[in-house]
Amino acid sequence: MKPFTYERPNSPAAAAAALTRHPNAKFIAGGTNLLDLMKLEIETPTHLIDINGLRLNRIEPTQDGGLRIGALVRNTDLAANDRVRRDYALLARALLAGASGQLRNKATTAGNLLQRTRCPYFYDINQPCNKRRQGSGCAAIDGFSRQHAVIGGSEYCIATHPGDMSVALRALDATIETIHTGGQARRIPIADFYRLPGNTPNIENSLNPGELITGVTLPAPVGGVHVYRKVRDRASYAFALISVAAIVQPDGSGRVALGGVAPRPWRVEAAETQMQQSAKVVAATLLADSTPTAANAFKLMLVERTLGAVLAEARA
Ligand code: SF4
Repeated sequence: MKPFTYERPNSPAAAAAALTRHPNAKFIAGGTNLLDLMKLEIETPTHLIDINGLRLNRIEPTQDGGLRIGALVRNTDLAANDRVRRDYALLARALLAGASGQLRNKATTAGNLLQRTRCPYFYDINQPCNKRRQGSGCAAIDGFSRQHAVIGGSEYCIATHPGDMSVALRALDATIETIHTGGQARRIPIADFYRLPGNTPNIENSLNPGELITGVTLPAPVGGVHVYRKVRDRASYAFALISVAAIVQPDGSGRVALGGVAPRPWRVEAAETQMQQSAKVVAATLLADSTPTAANAFKLMLVERTLGAVLAEARA
């Protein structure tokens, strides 16, 4: 691991300002992904800004009947929150499908949103990887791509976004709140937060340099039956091959988002106009224009069948 300096600011504005003084700095909270990346020298910050003292760990109702989740709320606490369990069960279920109990105790809301891909070539510094080193190539495209994206990728990168929480937040229409170095606050709908790789797979989201996530807001609850189903190679502590997050209303209408298939949580609103039809129809719209590799084409059928099981469970 490369040497680094460390500081612990006491306000979001001070944390954002610290980043301008140290251009090669990183924020750290739970550190559950960043420390691994630093040990492998994939991330090499020269300064760490520890944001654990910023008091961004509250879950509060909003005036419009929604919920505001502080950036530093731990995944375990968020999944166990009474209001989340009652009104946003999709979020609680997605959180509990992720990682392990130990990791959820440390991992924060903001850190979960910003976790990096688990493409194995990204973590192997002897392999070409445009996300790790722009212009070096992509070892996955002609390599082992079973876990990779079937839609939304590019000729430069086919990595998937690894999150579960973010898939639920996409279906729940969450908004991400930030503060910039100059003190300006910003609200980013989650639909606009994650970028597709294009020819710059190293840029994964719409945060500007020096911008710090302070919280996530959820709109007023929409009711319905909430189901999050994750399909993976082993029963726990594994990333999704695919996941389905669905909210189904009594009349059969609803919302659906997918994980494990694309570089970002994947939601296609046109598919939701077909929710009362078969899973085959909905899946076909969700994954129209998909470009799977020979190794991951199975994900198309896996999505259709898992969505079928989810819709059957919700309708029952
Ligand atoms: Fe790197 Fe993306 Fe290719 Fe994986 S898929 S090797 S992360 S460029």
